[in-house]
Amino acid sequence: MDYPSSFLSKAFLAGSWIETPRTFPVRSPATGAVLAEVADCGPGQARTAIEAAAQIFPEWRSTTPYLRSDLLRKWHDSILAHAETLARTMAQEMGKPLVEARREVLYAAAFVDWYAEEAKRIYGETVPSRDPRKRILVRSVPVGPVYGITPWNFPAAMVTRKVAPALAAGCPFVLKPAEESPLTALLLAKLWEESGGWPAVFQVLPGSDPAALSGPFLDDPRIRKLTFTGSTPVGKRLYERSAPTLKRISLELGGGAPFLVFAEADLEKAAAGALVAKFRNGGQSCVAANAFYLQKEIAGAFTRLFAEKVASLRLGDPLDETTQVGPLVNAQGLAKVQELAADARSRGAKTILGGPCRDLFFSPTLLAEVPSDARILEEEIFGPLAPLCLFETEEEALAAARRGRAGLAAYLWTQDLGRALRFAEEIPYGIVGLNDGLPSTHQAPFGGFRESGIGREGGKWGLAEYLEPQYLSFGWE
Ligand code: NAP
Repeated sequence: MDYPSSFLSKAFLAGSWIETPRTFPVRSPATGAVLAEVADCGPGQARTAIEAAAQIFPEWRSTTPYLRSDLLRKWHDSILAHAETLARTMAQEMGKPLVEARREVLYAAAFVDWYAEEAKRIYGETVPSRDPRKRILVRSVPVGPVYGITPWNFPAAMVTRKVAPALAAGCPFVLKPAEESPLTALLLAKLWEESGGWPAVFQVLPGSDPAALSGPFLDDPRIRKLTFTGSTPVGKRLYERSAPTLKRISLELGGGAPFLVFAEADLEKAAAGALVAKFRNGGQSCVAANAFYLQKEIAGAFTRLFAEKVASLRLGDPLDETTQVGPLVNAQGLAKVQELAADARSRGAKTILGGPCRDLFFSPTLLAEVPSDARILEEEIFGPLAPLCLFETEEEALAAARRGRAGLAAYLWTQDLGRALRFAEEIPYGIVGLNDGLPSTHQAPFGGFRESGIGREGGKWGLAEYLEPQYLSFGWE
């Protein structure tokens, strides 16, 4: 690693950097090289972290919002000052191209900036009482210590999107980062500490056995909230496990976004939007376009424009400045993409672009004439593989968009304003990109309908996830 980095082999527990008896390796998906041996936390460390979070909570919640804002502001500045180190760390540990990793650092920092401001705007309310001798006051209070679990695909932004609003609200946060990308999380914690942040309010516990490490957090009634970003099956399990202690819960789960192009769309812009929606982060994004549905009369023209752009994508070393698509994160990710492509081909899909794989590198691939029973239309692909299907009528397009159980993002390309609004109102998605291939910003509510989750991150909605109203009924006799 290119950072003075002894702390990268440790956990940030109860305000100190500690070693654990066991470690686990973090490997570069591009080369297979071991980047670091990282502390492998288990239930013992989890219990220590819970104790520390519970102890610091009364003090942290009693700080002024101005203090919390100031600490978040300093963290934000430190993240930007170390942007290149963070970007290179991400590129190395999970294979995101460096040019994209730099953009992710800015995105991650934007959450910290936003919640540094929002901390000062945690307002209460008064409600007119029907009883003249009573007053109704409503305060916003922090929910309490939080346990957060993040995935590897956005190693910095998924962390700050949770930690910054929690800290702004007055909640201590214990993070379990993904096994593939703990280094970025540890670096973020180091920057929090170095910029003057209170150490015990943000703890990072890497681990290789997520169920064992999470158990004590899920069981302990002092942990008042679970926030999770990851796959839908794991999210469901954690939801169930949080029931006995009735934790507040935020789940940001799997996507599988439909991308629809209508005949009247600006095809050049739609193809450019499709490239971003599908191939950003090598397709490993929860809002990644999964399947493309093209209205029959423009399918040929759109496919030509899209294929031209996809063919020009450069697959390669994530640290190379010119790389646009890196390796898949691990062998399971690659196997899933290969399986889905093989299944579609076996049912009659035609490969119109794509090359051989090398190690974890999967060539950007387009499949046409994908039949409606192909698994690829039901399952989240999470890789640089784009299936193309046709539709004729708006009803068929609607049926395609409503398919499945996910409800995170959908994309719609049309210049017919009536159709755009009608369609957006009819489809069950938390995020709709109308002529926009990248509907993702720190200011807006990010999250899904149906089985894509519960709750929202970003904007004022992201802060509300860490607050609850306390109603004071004030009688004066
Ligand atoms: P995953 O397997 O669910 O893992 C996500 C996190 O959960 C990792 O930290 C993982 O730890 C942990 N985990 C796994 N099993 C667990 C268990 N039994 N108990 C507690 N924690 C457990 O998901 P992934 O494959 O890494 O991430 C990709 C998924 O995340 C996709 O479905 C994607 O759509 C979704 N995602 C959603 C959003 C959103 O905002 N909606 C954003 C990004 C990604 P280990 O790393 O140790 O396995």
